[in-house]
Amino acid sequence: MSATIFEKSHLGRAGINLPKQQVSDAPTLNRELLRSEKAKLPELSEFDVVRHFTNLSKKNFSIDSNFYPLGSCTMKYNPKVEERVGALDGFANLHPHHITNNKPEFMQGALESLKILEDDLKEITGMDAFTLTPEAGAHGEMTGIMLIGAYHKKRGNKKRYVIVPDSSHGTNPATAAMVDFEVITVKSDKNGAMDVEAFKEVISDEVAAVMMTVPNTVGLFNPGIKEICDIAHEHDALMYYDGANLNAILGLIRPGDIGFDVVHLNLHKTFATPHGGGGPGAGPVGVREHLVEFLPQLRVGYEDGKGYFLKDKSPDSIGRISPFFGNYLVMLRALVYMQTLGREGMINVSKKAVLNANYVLAKLKDYLDVPYDTFCMHECVLSAESLYKKYHVSTLDIAKYLLDFGLHAPTIYFPLIVHEAIMIEPTETENIDSIDYFCQKVIDAVELAKSNPEAFKEFPKTLPISRADETKAARSLNIRWQQD
Ligand SMILES: *Cc1c(COP(=O)(O)O)cnc(C)c1O
Repeated sequence: MSATIFEKSHLGRAGINLPKQQVSDAPTLNRELLRSEKAKLPELSEFDVVRHFTNLSKKNFSIDSNFYPLGSCTMKYNPKVEERVGALDGFANLHPHHITNNKPEFMQGALESLKILEDDLKEITGMDAFTLTPEAGAHGEMTGIMLIGAYHKKRGNKKRYVIVPDSSHGTNPATAAMVDFEVITVKSDKNGAMDVEAFKEVISDEVAAVMMTVPNTVGLFNPGIKEICDIAHEHDALMYYDGANLNAILGLIRPGDIGFDVVHLNLHKTFATPHGGGGPGAGPVGVREHLVEFLPQLRVGYEDGKGYFLKDKSPDSIGRISPFFGNYLVMLRALVYMQTLGREGMINVSKKAVLNANYVLAKLKDYLDVPYDTFCMHECVLSAESLYKKYHVSTLDIAKYLLDFGLHAPTIYFPLIVHEAIMIEPTETENIDSIDYFCQKVIDAVELAKSNPEAFKEFPKTLPISRADETKAARSLNIRWQQD
């Protein structure tokens, strides 16, 4: 490990050389507030500091420098034009209290951008209206299920359950439980889709909603989805579409056309906001006509002569779920992404994302196990189960091996329903050269596992840290340097 800047410090080595003070100390400072000892700051020259931080920055792993098979769920490539527009003064420096004080005249441009965004999202999803304010995918889910709760309450429906397939994202059952529903989990069939027969056994008039992650967490599209929607609706259960990963279906299918009542999207995943490491998000929720009256504030309206304005609260609205308008700059970036790509461009995004994932699957299927032998959507799932049984080389070992070759590790041990899972999402922007390179390194790892499994203990060899204690790193992470 390289030394910290404190360890590189040398007494008396200064970065600046100021002339001697020629005025007396400012008289107003309260002496009690001053420190009695000098702060223990590192002492280095300007050049030492520049070199230190430049070298540190080179240790970063980023989408701008290397292949990142975690895909849109974590960090897909975001075109730089979105950042440029997001940084424009008129957008970035808008004062949020214009909203609080209801001063639409000071934010016509921003309100217009929100209105266009809502219209574009309606067109993309086939829904009738959107709330843009939820600040993350999980926040959108909670909003969506609250809307469903409000809908049933107004109709006097007695509802207790939310059905969730076991291949759904973990936030789905968590959301249902948080909004005070009981969760019924339905297992997947051998093709990785929710088992329609098992679903028929648990659906009843007490079911409030069926939450489906589409494509599901094994990267597959459920061919029985329309039938599931029809059956649910017979019981006045509403269909919830977790559209956090729209990368696979953008411009190809629309949740509203299939029969879904509510959908949330993760703008920070599909539509260009770098969010790896917990950055800002936006999880707008789209609804069909029968749920519009329950939408949270704030919503943008437009009238000729009046311009853009903030709509009044509808009597049955669930109220506010975010301060101000949520993460506006994430929405703005999404709008720029959509407008610069256009309809054809967005269709192309999905086709390429799906093609790239299937290409990876086809290249690797002779080397790793394939839990579901079918075409995938925007990501593919493989497994190292056989490799592990035979040679004791695990998914984790392969992931560590890849790090030495300038590759970020793919998602591993997820989805939970696949043993020794390796999940790969190349995204639409990777070209064939980088995907071929990645696949070749996975194949090399598999070959090495067969010839010399012991070798894996040493990977990665080229990084500052080799094998961390995974449990300790997760449970008691300590990244703070402390002075003795
Ligand atoms: C990421 C994700 C979520 C949660 O989104 P956050 O913005 O992280 O809260 C929900 N569902 C699916 C399918 C996801 O991929």
